[in-house]
Amino acid sequence: MRKNIVAGNWKMNNDLAQTETLITSLKSQTKTTEAEVMIAPTATNLWQAYNSLKDSEIEVIAQNMHFAESGAYTGEISASMLKSVGVTTVILGHSERREYFNETDELLAKKVDAALANKMRVIFCFGEELADRKSGNHENIVESQIKNALFHLSAWDYKSVVLAYEPVWAIGTGETASPEQAQEMHAFIRKTLADQYGYEVANSVSILYGGSVKPANAQEIFSKPDVDGGLIGGAALNAEDFFAIVNAF
Ligand code: 13P
Repeated sequence: MRKNIVAGNWKMNNDLAQTETLITSLKSQTKTTEAEVMIAPTATNLWQAYNSLKDSEIEVIAQNMHFAESGAYTGEISASMLKSVGVTTVILGHSERREYFNETDELLAKKVDAALANKMRVIFCFGEELADRKSGNHENIVESQIKNALFHLSAWDYKSVVLAYEPVWAIGTGETASPEQAQEMHAFIRKTLADQYGYEVANSVSILYGGSVKPANAQEIFSKPDVDGGLIGGAALNAEDFFAIVNAF
């Protein structure tokens, strides 16, 4: 059966000292569920975080990577560089990467390929903007994001793929998709996968919800049958809140 996962995306927050402080607080928390727990600190702090957490139940993951193995790509980080600091899971396609760094489906397909070629696990993010939701076009947008970036993969590849539905209008806004809206979209995502790869594959892929998940709403969202966990932004920056979400299963 597919796994429940709660991943904290720290975005561009926390310098080295703040990272150490938050990790110390995270280590003092108690996990009462089977859910896998991950945190994604900023790239400069991955090695420190990995070393602090390598004997814990928290996996340290990356927020982004480049598709090339090495070379003249100033400022970028490759899959093998991430692996060399203990990181084997990477978030790709976050809406902030798409919006502020012009990441397209085509580019993301290359990044996904590079991660899988390096035997990394991918948390692939996508989601519609408010205008798409208002015009009723949200399912079409999500379907095309998934098809364009992932449908060249083999069924086998999905052993290393986690999906994260993050409606852009719910990220950092305090406005969450209702549990019903999340379930409806997650079921649609699973059907989209099933139409291409069959239900055995579709039922094995974890689909996370992201967008203003908090201790107060996590339990209801996670109780939905096609919601397998969350990708958490703001609430992941506080250890008590983050673990309240982890323990909401
Ligand atoms: P918030 O939880 O702050 O809305 O962020 C969600 C997100 O973007 C996680 O990747």
